[in-house]
Amino acid sequence: MSGELVIIGDVITLDPVRPRVTAVAIVNGRIAATGSPADARAAVPAGTPEVTVSGTIIPGFVDSHVHLLWAGRRASRVSLTGATSIAEVQQRIRAHALANPGDGWIEADDDLDPWDLAENRLPTAAELETAAPGRGVLLDRRGHDALVNTTALHRAGITSATPDPPGGRIDRDPNGEPTGLLVEHPAVALARAVIPPPSGADHHRWIENGQRELLAHGITTAMDPAVSTAELSAYADAARAGTLQLRVTAMPLGSETTTFADLDRAAETCGLETADPHLLVRGPTKLFLDGGGSLGTALLSTPWPTHPTPPASPEPTPAAGPSPAEPAPLPTSTLTPSSATPSSGVVEPLGVGPSQPSAAEPGPVDPAYSEPVSCGVVEHSDYHGNQTLSREVVLAHCREAALAGRGAGVHAVGDAAIDLVLDVLGEVDAVTPVAGLGFHLIHAYLGPSPDAMRRARDLGVRVSAHPALQWDFGLGLIDRLGEDRAAAANPLRSWLDAGVEVGGGSDGPGPPMAPLHGMWQARTRHVRGRETPLGPEQAITAPEALELFTTGAARITGGPGTGRLRPGDPADLAFLTGDPLTPDPDTLRSLTVTATMVNGRLVFERPDFQQTTTTQPTTQPADPEPADPERAGPERVDRAAVDPAAADSMLVDVGSVVPEQVASQGAATGMSGAGTVAGGWVSPGRRVWGWAVSGRAVLGTVGDVAGG
Ligand SMILES: [Zn+2]
Repeated sequence: MSGELVIIGDVITLDPVRPRVTAVAIVNGRIAATGSPADARAAVPAGTPEVTVSGTIIPGFVDSHVHLLWAGRRASRVSLTGATSIAEVQQRIRAHALANPGDGWIEADDDLDPWDLAENRLPTAAELETAAPGRGVLLDRRGHDALVNTTALHRAGITSATPDPPGGRIDRDPNGEPTGLLVEHPAVALARAVIPPPSGADHHRWIENGQRELLAHGITTAMDPAVSTAELSAYADAARAGTLQLRVTAMPLGSETTTFADLDRAAETCGLETADPHLLVRGPTKLFLDGGGSLGTALLSTPWPTHPTPPASPEPTPAAGPSPAEPAPLPTSTLTPSSATPSSGVVEPLGVGPSQPSAAEPGPVDPAYSEPVSCGVVEHSDYHGNQTLSREVVLAHCREAALAGRGAGVHAVGDAAIDLVLDVLGEVDAVTPVAGLGFHLIHAYLGPSPDAMRRARDLGVRVSAHPALQWDFGLGLIDRLGEDRAAAANPLRSWLDAGVEVGGGSDGPGPPMAPLHGMWQARTRHVRGRETPLGPEQAITAPEALELFTTGAARITGGPGTGRLRPGDPADLAFLTGDPLTPDPDTLRSLTVTATMVNGRLVFERPDFQQTTTTQPTTQPADPEPADPERAGPERVDRAAVDPAAADSMLVDVGSVVPEQVASQGAATGMSGAGTVAGGWVSPGRRVWGWAVSGRAVLGTVGDVAGG
């Protein structure tokens, strides 16, 4: 399949005008027509190959929050997935050390929670040390916390005398000695600072591995949140070299010391603008504002409970214990879920993301969230979570992004973090309207209030929501917050009913990255290790679930993918074994992706992918008119030609913009406005970003449209 092509099959388009069709025509990597086989054939030259496929064809999935690089990185790390005891964790580290001799650091993605292990606690620094004596070991906990061994503590200079960095915490035993658990980025940064950064070759390997995995899930556009300068550069190189096979929106990581201007410079230095904008674009700035729900560090308006209730129906854990040779476990109070202690503060010290090593340096403190330092014992019942960036820094980033026509995605899990972001964006909006610029809340799953939902809708702030996250640690939330609050987490139904634009994502790796799994969770509210659904009243419908991972997510990424098959859209398709809209949500669990197409080219194909290729008779006129001149004609504007800063806006049909008004506003702003308006892009705030005049694209912001 390449070049011009007609695909015959059962096609769901996500285009409300023609939601379900039996054929698609593709020309030069774009959808040329949808409709009947005759419609499709009429849009391509005679002799165009034609394939018939079984199953159901949908737009390629869009994931608005997936750590592609981290997914690719997993192959070089210890896998702890499914480990059921500390002894097994040690065994896997030991095996990795043997297979990778030398003195290099050993890292793992540790998605384990205490209740996953027979000991009902996490391993200590000393226990990790016995698995790889003398080598640095760092287990990465969901990109937020880390577990390190004694050697790592030693190399990082972390001792009982080391103060907690602002916004982070060094977990300590009753004697004040570090246990090996480092809570939140500022504390993890102390260890990261002594680990050699990955090389460019590492980054390229991660991209190759990560994209292969995503394409196998039918994902054709991925927004990678929190990429460092070096990672941005690797993406740009891959796009230029032609090795990037899916569309990527990269969110550069901002922080207290990495300003918006720094991100501009980084994008310029790595030549992002010279990469194919249909393949790689700079997305909104990524900011981390708080911790996580199951980690017990999200910023809440009410204090975190200090005596968590046990899980309602805990996953049975095998009774494997530590091997007799290992040190005796610490008292369970130190590293169990109840170990949440007051944070020392507030501010992310440097531009420290999960993959950007840096040294820590204290910053100013928000008085509202300043907490006294604790030494392993819960002394206060007023711990509200960790705020890892000050309000001033969030405001500065958002204000400058908006002025530049860009947005920001803010990691905000707890209700207090969500409110803080909306306060800041309200302040920005008073000067520079934020709607349509790509501003979004990331996760936003712990107790957003009805008022917050109204404010998000009114501001045009979107939500990147992650059903796979709820599936992954639903039990953990019950453990920390009780059944009712856990059931209300990730309130997709409420967000949608409030009129907020929501897009799906996985937050993988860790949580399952398959959008089919995410759709299933969003419809059923099932969580890992529990029979009954958690908060089924927050379930969404079949069409809503599909929109979540196609058009909804595409709105958040702001392109280059659209999650839709309409003439002019990129020819990005996922081929499924069956219909994802069938009423029984459990059908989604049996569906698989058999092939994935990006830009009209098959980039993933399973051996059982069924296609029958034929060729059209050559009696047709060589250069036929498009099937639907009004929608696919020459005056159609290429949406991707829009300035990336404005690409967050929505494509509207011909005629839904008031032609005279656009023409007059165009003239008023000094842009050529004569001719016939063929189409336009209108943001949710009815702001026109571009339109076509007599076949030429005229781009720019021309103010609000009253009608249409
Ligand atoms: Zn994430």
